[in-house]
Amino acid sequence: MKRVAVVTSGGDAPGMNAAIRAVVRTGLHKGWDVFGIRQGYIGLINDNVIPLGARDVGGIIHQGGTILGSGRCPEFETEDGRLKAIRTLSQHAIDALVVIGGNGSQAGAYALSTMGYPVIGVASTIDNDLYGSEITIGADTALGVAIEAIDRLKVTASSHERAFVVEVMGRDCGYLALMAGIAGGADAIVIPEVETDPESVATVIRAAYSRGKRHALVVAAEGARCNAQRMSLYFQEHKQRLGFELRVTILGHVQRGGAPGAFDRLLATRLGAAATEHLAKGEHGILVGLIKDEVTATSLEDVVSSKKQLDLRLLELARVLAE
Ligand code: ADP
Repeated sequence: MKRVAVVTSGGDAPGMNAAIRAVVRTGLHKGWDVFGIRQGYIGLINDNVIPLGARDVGGIIHQGGTILGSGRCPEFETEDGRLKAIRTLSQHAIDALVVIGGNGSQAGAYALSTMGYPVIGVASTIDNDLYGSEITIGADTALGVAIEAIDRLKVTASSHERAFVVEVMGRDCGYLALMAGIAGGADAIVIPEVETDPESVATVIRAAYSRGKRHALVVAAEGARCNAQRMSLYFQEHKQRLGFELRVTILGHVQRGGAPGAFDRLLATRLGAAATEHLAKGEHGILVGLIKDEVTATSLEDVVSSKKQLDLRLLELARVLAE
């Protein structure tokens, strides 16, 4: 292994820069040439490749986002697109690619590796929905941002005796909503994994008021069928009967932009360095992640064919704690 490239793909996550830095500096330490691909898989198709030296990744460990840019690239989902990508990598005589990203990006990494190109994945998504890593780069920081917003909303909610629903990210996975709900002391948590209807949320809120609570807080994942918008509509339609309104806050992309906290910087650094070590041993077709506090490697085939399960016992705990 002499020349490797690193790409950040899909949704950006705080800590991606720390992972890029780790790949670059550990690669340089081994005497390799390291390259960056700009704008995710788009840069592979459009030949947007830049050399990365030690100074190029200086002063970025604390920055959110990704210095390489990221992006979504439908063309990469076609074999033709991936052939173009391999051509670009071959033209630069690059021997292997490190893909920092979430579920979609790792599906792309797997597709590329099945075409015979050496690829290694680094688990990074704020959704924490990637099989092969109990926690992914960016999730902890995103959770911190969500909790800070929830704490502030609770202050204003209790001053005005209002009910609030906070929507956090999570298309298919309720990890952020569940954890933010527990850590933020929510009265109800709505996640895609568990079917919930607005009427039962209203019942929980009414019960909270009757137990003497001065406000009620619901945390919902964007991907839940009963997301913030649907809940709010239902509460508006049934305002007279329910007797209270529901104020909506959708955190959206605010959750992505935070500066990575200590946990994400360390995780990203460990995983980025591990990716280099595996490549040095000639290993690829794997995703590096963290399981039971150990840096692990899981085959990309397993990663793309398995679904990470959320510990739903925590939902029950959240119910008990909302008392
Ligand atoms: P994330 O990695 O954050 O989950 P996306 O789901 O948007 O982000 O995926 C990022 C990119 O990965 C897509 O735009 C596409 O280029 C690539 N990708 C996603 N799924 C596949 C697939 N099944 N095969 C090949 N490439 C894929």
